[in-house]
Amino acid sequence: MPARRDGATLMTLHLRFWGTRGSVPAPGPETVRYGGNTPCLEVRTETNGLVILDAGTGLRPLGRALLAEHGERPIVADIFLTHAHWDHIQGIPFFEPIYQSRNRFRIWAPTGLEQDIGRVVRAQMSPTVFPVAFADVRASVEFCEFTDGSRGGDGYRISAFGVQHPGGALGYRLSGAGRDAGSFVYVSDNELGSSEFYQTPAGWRRALVEFIRGAALLVHDSTYTAEEYQRHRGWGHSTDEEAVLLALEADVAELVLYHHKPERTDDEVDRSVARCQALVASRGGHTRIRAAAEGLTLSV
Ligand SMILES: [Zn+2]
Ligand SMILES: [Zn+2]
Repeated sequence: MPARRDGATLMTLHLRFWGTRGSVPAPGPETVRYGGNTPCLEVRTETNGLVILDAGTGLRPLGRALLAEHGERPIVADIFLTHAHWDHIQGIPFFEPIYQSRNRFRIWAPTGLEQDIGRVVRAQMSPTVFPVAFADVRASVEFCEFTDGSRGGDGYRISAFGVQHPGGALGYRLSGAGRDAGSFVYVSDNELGSSEFYQTPAGWRRALVEFIRGAALLVHDSTYTAEEYQRHRGWGHSTDEEAVLLALEADVAELVLYHHKPERTDDEVDRSVARCQALVASRGGHTRIRAAAEGLTLSV
């Protein structure tokens, strides 16, 4: 546990990316370095609390790692979904720990989904589309709705903010417990470029900036290039450069480009990082830029 010079303890959060790809898994030789699994981010607290953000196909290898780590000990986690689109839930039936009775999970989703999250996950495991029924899930699984405000967990606090995405989605801010604890913001799917497709309240952008402000790290949707975005307005995603401008406005130390377009090759992601670094420099900013990659670990 890191200690400050004045002796106070800093409650750090440790992040590991298990899935970085948006929309659909994209394995292959051109996505080896940044990864082909859909969104999943593991967070550990200083008290060894376990938080999982999104349950894309990255959840499958995370499940295997958790089983190897825990052995016969129970696995307990809060899983916060930004929304229930396929790429954010498709790892759940392949998450082996849900088939063991000693494990306990709470699956949180935004309030006001067209169908509640419990029904969505059960439908995902109905016999027409999946060979194992939800009745075979042995772990304790509780479905919860994330309403406004913030809540505390084992070594962390989390708050949510509604973002611009078809059907609605949340961004999450996580902080380690305690004063001066590090924090980061996770916004997997969000259309910064236009509000016309959404029932966004006035002042939304300003409120989003304030939600992010002061975080050490922003993980943000950077699905499109500026040129691609013109053909995908209203699809619910941002460009890499829009993510940079948001990070600069909110004065975050580091931006992690996330939710890579399935067709985006590793070399193209490298070029996106370089383009974003140039934009930061041209604005006189100091925000560090990197792209999310499977296996990347960061601490705030
Ligand atoms: Zn997505
Ligand atoms: Zn989505």
